[in-house]
Amino acid sequence: MNIHEYQAKELLAKYGIGIPTGHAAQTVEEAVAGAEKLPGPLYVVKAQIHAGGRGKGKFTELGADAKGGVRLAKSIDDVRKDAGEMLGNTLVTIQTGDAGKQVNRLYVTDGVDIEAEYYLSMLVDRKSGRVAMIVSTEGGMDIETVAHDTPERITTITIDPAQGFQPHHGRAVAFALKLTGDLNKQAAKLASQLYTAFMDLDCAMLEINPLVETKDGKLLVLDTKMSFDSNALYRHPDVEKLRDETEEDPMEVEASKYDLAYIKLDGDIGCMVNGAGLAMATMDIIKLNGMFPANFLDVGGGASKEKVTAAFKIILSDPAVKGILVNIFGGIMKCDIIAEGIVAAAKEVNLSVPLVVRLEGTNVAEGKAILANSGLPIVSADNLGDAAEKIVAQVKQAA
Ligand code: GDP
Ligand code: MG
Repeated sequence: MNIHEYQAKELLAKYGIGIPTGHAAQTVEEAVAGAEKLPGPLYVVKAQIHAGGRGKGKFTELGADAKGGVRLAKSIDDVRKDAGEMLGNTLVTIQTGDAGKQVNRLYVTDGVDIEAEYYLSMLVDRKSGRVAMIVSTEGGMDIETVAHDTPERITTITIDPAQGFQPHHGRAVAFALKLTGDLNKQAAKLASQLYTAFMDLDCAMLEINPLVETKDGKLLVLDTKMSFDSNALYRHPDVEKLRDETEEDPMEVEASKYDLAYIKLDGDIGCMVNGAGLAMATMDIIKLNGMFPANFLDVGGGASKEKVTAAFKIILSDPAVKGILVNIFGGIMKCDIIAEGIVAAAKEVNLSVPLVVRLEGTNVAEGKAILANSGLPIVSADNLGDAAEKIVAQVKQAA
């Protein structure tokens, strides 16, 4: 789960980490009121969307020379003008895709006099089973570009969670950022505070870009992105409350209500499968047959009729879907029960695209009979390869 910049900064501030003062706003009036609480004379009006690259982003509705999604404002009037231009409009950045994202929230912050910009991020490194802290002197830039062009300017420090954060990790971070004197001490302390926050909150990723050194010698988190391990959210009800569903794919939000693991993809064939491994195998075999999956969908071990119906509706609400492949192994659930669910769901949603079903497992013969006698144009398949060939052929034929 991702959260907004202002939410992430508020969380970090609780760990003693320095951030510029700021106020979130959903209307122009709130933005102005937020700015009035700040000392001025420089304010920053920042679009809050779950995507980076806002500064260099463009608003679809505004002219080509309009400013981006992070604006320096020199007066309260400018804050009012910028807030008015941004709210409700669509911001396109390198991370949003061409459709962009509508700006519904702003963050008005105290403008900082920047001396230098740095980069610092943390993530769970599955390979080493440790937490990786990635630091670079090249802040404010796209880290992928830095990694590509000047990889020697990136340092990775790994921290063993069994040992925890040690003073030498802090020194390594400060050294990699080439900081001396008091800034060196601040960097070491900041790294330790960030590690604590990261572990406490069960983060999956925490990126600070840029981390800035101010003209008066302080390190501040100027921009941050934070994402959480969804499997650990139950331990953090306060974090869960920060979820902004308007930022998520509506189909993925719907799927999460039914506890379906659904991820939208770019292809034409909707997949409904139980078990993540089987789902991946199904996607692979569709590709092997020359087409692409429209989604990843794991209905889980105990796929009830309600879940199957919800899954069907979600798949069909995607206009890209030209055919559906159901591939279910009846282990905990019996194939006949699943077949009944599929038939009921197909009738309820007025199935408009070809449907191929491959069932295997307990009561498979009964299951297939239910599909055959349903009166619906459901194509039954005998194995995974057969199923993929059939759905690809059906979709091509229907086209
Ligand atoms: P992003 O474009 O989505 O990554 O948004 P950022 O919050 O990182 O802002 C982009 C850039 O705007 C930063 O790298 C800074 O150069 C600039 N910026 C943001 N806030 C301030 C500020 O308070 N003062 C100054 N001088 N520049 C800022
Ligand atoms: Mg940034």
